[in-house]
Amino acid sequence: MKKVIIIGAGIGGLIAGNLLAKKGHKVTIFEAHSMPGGYTAGFYRKGYYFESGTVSFEASASVFKAMKDIGVLEKINFVQQKIRLVSEDFDGIPENYDGYKKMVYAAFPSEKGKLDKIFADLDKIADSIGGMNTPMPFLYKGPAKLKAILPSIFGLPKLMKISKQYDNITSSEFVARYFEKDSKLYNLFNEFGYTDMSAMMVGSGLAGLFTELWTVKDGMQSWADILAENFRKLGGDLHLNSYVDRIITKNGVAIGVLSKDTVYDADYVISAGDYKKTLLKLLDDKSLIPKTLLNTINRAVVSEGYFTVYLGLDKSNDELGKSMKVPHVFAFNNKPGCDIYNSEDSEYFSKAFAEIYSPSLVNPSHAPLGKSSIMLQTKAPYRWMNNWGGGDSKIYRQLKGKAMEAMIENASGLIPGLKECIEYKDAATPLTYERFTHNTAGASSAWSWNPQKRFYQDDMSVHIETPVKNLYIGSCWAMQIGGVPGALAAAYQCAHKIK
Ligand SMILES: Cc1cc2nc3c(=O)[nH]c(=O)nc-3n(C[C@H](O)[C@H](O)[C@H](O)COP(=O)(O)OP(=O)(O)OC[C@H]3O[C@@H](n4cnc5c(N)ncnc54)[C@H](O)[C@@H]3O)c2cc1C
Repeated sequence: MKKVIIIGAGIGGLIAGNLLAKKGHKVTIFEAHSMPGGYTAGFYRKGYYFESGTVSFEASASVFKAMKDIGVLEKINFVQQKIRLVSEDFDGIPENYDGYKKMVYAAFPSEKGKLDKIFADLDKIADSIGGMNTPMPFLYKGPAKLKAILPSIFGLPKLMKISKQYDNITSSEFVARYFEKDSKLYNLFNEFGYTDMSAMMVGSGLAGLFTELWTVKDGMQSWADILAENFRKLGGDLHLNSYVDRIITKNGVAIGVLSKDTVYDADYVISAGDYKKTLLKLLDDKSLIPKTLLNTINRAVVSEGYFTVYLGLDKSNDELGKSMKVPHVFAFNNKPGCDIYNSEDSEYFSKAFAEIYSPSLVNPSHAPLGKSSIMLQTKAPYRWMNNWGGGDSKIYRQLKGKAMEAMIENASGLIPGLKECIEYKDAATPLTYERFTHNTAGASSAWSWNPQKRFYQDDMSVHIETPVKNLYIGSCWAMQIGGVPGALAAAYQCAHKIK
């Protein structure tokens, strides 16, 4: 039995904790926040429940396998989601990728030639990646891992050929091959997923978006709570409200942590939070990090943070459902000049693409009786307006209010009477996300998704090792593009490593 300390009770830390406790190790998780879950969590305000980070996830085969391995699959109410796509040119709920194509062709008949070309390339990418209905090989070890890899080995030559063509191209470079910059179709194909992600991700993302998106009916917090409860049942110790200040090393080996002025010993330390902060802030001895790596970490670009508006509405779910149709809507209302790289554009949020998500349409108990709720989300420009006011709390509040009103104004086009029925409103900026999860600049999904700014060599490998012996990364930061799958893969690799 080894003594293992995990820093962070996000989905990565909770899964690693459960797997290791199940193996009989003595595991303690330290979580800075008062609730477990990190970005897979939720909160109540005035009787309304909202999601604190992700509202959905993909890679369900991996998620379900993990929950089955841990023994909690039956307790979690996973439900599939359908996405409605709306703009002034189209309005549909595609059943699958082919349905999406039909919708786009019908909306832009005069662009058929260009659409044929882009879809021919996207089809090639989707075909090379194959289905996403099997768990990631990282979730297995030994012969089972080999068996999991086998089906993809046959497709490897094709995948490598296509990757060579598309992997290093950003989405905007890719889409500009077919459509004029800032045109409606340019924005449509460029808005899915993260800014300037690899063209490979555009293809695979679109192929899975309409059939492979899931949420938890009882809210993401229920998922984290079930994992936390199971962890405790397995003998694990979960310390909430317990920020870890230091990772303690001796002779280049991690031997414990410092939290609330108390030293806790360990045979292994797993950092299941932000990578940059783990090495640049928490590690007691920076000389353990080679200079070149230190520079790379300092310079490495992280994924975009989100700006989210939370609204409690004095409107029944039936009424809201008439205008939303489904709980998750992508509103392509980009206005000319919308540029996420322009952090000085004070009007950015009135021009940006928005996702509208209704927790109460997923589950009516997420709002008081007869009422409903929505969240309006968009990626925010990096350190917008001098990082939201340069530390001045009055300017911060003004900027937050301005962004919030711009998002509400845009959503009013889809939900008539929205402004008149708001009972509760607040918003989270990337700084809020950072405050609650300690992710650098509110990075929502680990490192940058731009293939030309990668920290690791590719998007698909998992890196739990650090320059410090017995210190591992157990969060989504072990994978370039993070996400729930990244956190899962890291957690499993950590659990496999510690015998
Ligand atoms: C708006 C939004 C939308 C998203 N959409 C998707 C999506 O569609 N699909 C998808 O797969 N992913 C999505 N993600 C990303 C996904 O939610 C995360 O990648 C994933 O939940 C990360 O889990 P994690 O356990 O690695 O880290 P986190 O959830 O960041 O958890 C880290 C935990 O560690 C704690 N911690 C950090 N430092 C310390 C310390 N020093 N001491 C103690 N505790 C500490 C934090 O408080 C936190 O609870 C989205 C995220 C956001 C914000």
